Amino acid sequence: MQRLPDKQVEDRAVLDAVLDAGRVAHAGVVDGEGQPYVVPVAFARDGGAVLIHGSTASRLFRTLAAGAPTCLTVTLLEGLVLARSVFESSMHYRSAMVLGAAEPLDGDAKVRGLERITDHLMPGRWTDARQPSRKELAATLVLSLPIVEWSVKVSDGPPDDATEDLVLPVWAGVVPLHETFGAPVATAGLPAGIPVPGYVGRWAAR
Ligand SMILES: Cc1cc2nc3c(=O)[nH]c(=O)nc-3n(C[C@H](O)[C@H](O)[C@H](O)COP(=O)(O)OP(=O)(O)OC[C@H]3O[C@@H](n4cnc5c(N)ncnc54)[C@H](O)[C@@H]3O)c2cc1C
Repeated sequence: MQRLPDKQVEDRAVLDAVLDAGRVAHAGVVDGEGQPYVVPVAFARDGGAVLIHGSTASRLFRTLAAGAPTCLTVTLLEGLVLARSVFESSMHYRSAMVLGAAEPLDGDAKVRGLERITDHLMPGRWTDARQPSRKELAATLVLSLPIVEWSVKVSDGPPDDATEDLVLPVWAGVVPLHETFGAPVATAGLPAGIPVPGYVGRWAAR
């Protein structure tokens, strides 16, 4: 049995749009004792793969680098759906799952992977901030999960009230939910005369 199958979408472009709009994924693994862990991570889509990076000391990253299967989920919460009944109240969302095994990237591909993740999360930052040192690269795993087995669900539209509830004197509709950037806050001790980068100002339009 598959629940809510009507929300499932087969279009690969919809998957790419969810991955490109998301900033945080949750990667699941099961450890040697059968205990599942679901860990939030930053990510970026790079063509036909999802890239994630983390410490060589991280259990999640060491487990994935060894070839453990994973399910990586990205969720975009886009609104609250207020139905006339609590039962039919729900959410607007787009969510994606990518299943499979990730592979570690090395050498130039590893550096390009870090650039791609940085560009996705903080466009403009890679060429502005200091590049990773050899020591920092050695302490970092960059993993590539091919987008082969995947699924996407999209929940949108008005509340789906039962006919007998349509006459109730209860407000019904959708309250959209948006992620927004606030005004940049300079770190303590920043020397005077270093302005907020222009690219940061463009993030709000994303
Ligand atoms: C923000 C948010 C809130 C939600 N809240 C609820 C809730 O409160 N209660 C509830 O029952 N459901 C909720 N859902 C839907 C939930 O994620 C599942 O889709 C649903 O519960 C069906 O689960 P299942 O185990 O029966 O999946 P099945 O229908 O058995 O799944 C079959 C296949 O569909 C794919 N799939 C399933 N769910 C998703 C998904 N969300 N995104 C992409 N692919 C998927 C997987 O590949 C899976 O193997 C929510 C989803 C989101 C994104």
